[in-house]
Amino acid sequence: MTFEALNLHEALVRALQAAGYTEPTGVQAEAIPPALAGKDLMVSSRTGSGKTASFMLPALTKVLASRSLPATPGSKARGPRVLVLTPTRELAMQVAKAASDYGRFVPGLRVATVVGGVPYGAQLAALRGPLDILIATPGRLIDHLGSGKAMLGNLDMLVLDEADRMLDMGFIDDIRLITEATPAARQTMMYSATFAGHVGRLAQELLRDPQRIEVSSQTEAHGDIEQRLHWADDFEHKNALLDHILTEKNVDQALVFTSTQRDADWLADRLHEMGHSVASLHGGMPQGRRNRVLQGLRSKQLRVLVATDVAARGIDVPTISHVINFGLPMKEEDYVHRIGRTGRAGRTGLAVTLAERRDSGMIHRIQRYTTQRIPLATIEGLEPKRSAPLPMPAGAPPRGGKSFGPRPAGGKPFKPAGKTFAKPGFPRPAR
Ligand code: ADP
Ligand code: MG
Repeated sequence: MTFEALNLHEALVRALQAAGYTEPTGVQAEAIPPALAGKDLMVSSRTGSGKTASFMLPALTKVLASRSLPATPGSKARGPRVLVLTPTRELAMQVAKAASDYGRFVPGLRVATVVGGVPYGAQLAALRGPLDILIATPGRLIDHLGSGKAMLGNLDMLVLDEADRMLDMGFIDDIRLITEATPAARQTMMYSATFAGHVGRLAQELLRDPQRIEVSSQTEAHGDIEQRLHWADDFEHKNALLDHILTEKNVDQALVFTSTQRDADWLADRLHEMGHSVASLHGGMPQGRRNRVLQGLRSKQLRVLVATDVAARGIDVPTISHVINFGLPMKEEDYVHRIGRTGRAGRTGLAVTLAERRDSGMIHRIQRYTTQRIPLATIEGLEPKRSAPLPMPAGAPPRGGKSFGPRPAGGKPFKPAGKTFAKPGFPRPAR
């Protein structure tokens, strides 16, 4: 499945190429065709599965279509074509960024955000001018509607992103008021982790004959990826574990993640000296070189790529058999993005995490986020000398437990070991 096969406008396909996307994600492949056909949708799929593009590409398609219409004189021409409601300011900003990224080749695209916590002035100016896409949090938009500054009579598409969170935050009446100010003939796309209970009732109110799209949940998404966790006593031990794993025969191609650009360069140098065909990839490198490195990976000239999270986002190389977390991610979501680089195109993959004691706080957060324990593993002759730190809160189920819910009262609070163990001083060559 390609983006071209989704029949997207050439301007959008070009922007996706520029973003380094090679193929639609599952939710994009399933949601975009009915969205382009004008259907109302109820969509659930896991975090990081690319939901933003699954509504923003159809939204930009509406904007492109409106560009070829003759301008209608009068007030009807005012107000956005597309409104995206999000629960938080941060999410609104992210969605706005996606709108400008995916819409970078849409001529004269006008995107505005209306969120709380910032002055009204600039927002009022944006609302007065011509506008294609408005991204808003419900509370602030209500203020502007009340004062007659926001007009939604021209709306073609309404998107509710993270609807369950908006309802949890008490926005239900605001959402109702906002939708009442929009044309009944609009297209509506609603995104939520669940459509049970009050979210489902809101969906019934707002959507017409909706199509339900459910892409595998957070816990099921990586059935074809085996995960392993190795505890390392210190940095030297971690390097020894990595070296051992990379010499295994079943490593077709390995993607090794580091926490920083500096570590990526340092580790790639070290592995190069050991005789591996290896390169680093990070945001500090010029785009041309990054493209050549990726080309080298695709053509299998490179067996090992050492990368940072940002640089590895768009990588889709089906022959990556191993993802190795040499440095842990800053955010638990990134763990899911990382391991998703293997186990692609129906193949199986192995995701190995090498952690020192100071990483146990992040390991705990990752396990809570994925609601899975990463199975522990050891390598003969390289077993850790120190006992494994507690990877989960006291009071949580000991093994295979899915729930990391509230601890029983009186339970000892979980303290991430990362706060108490200093990184063993290991000299690295100055660069
Ligand atoms: P969600 O809303 O489902 O949590 P996002 O829309 O925020 O996910 O996307 C998560 C990440 O995946 C973003 O960094 C985005 O740039 C990236 N992404 C989205 N679609 C693709 C794709 N088709 N190929 C590669 N990366 C993608
Ligand atoms: Mg999202």
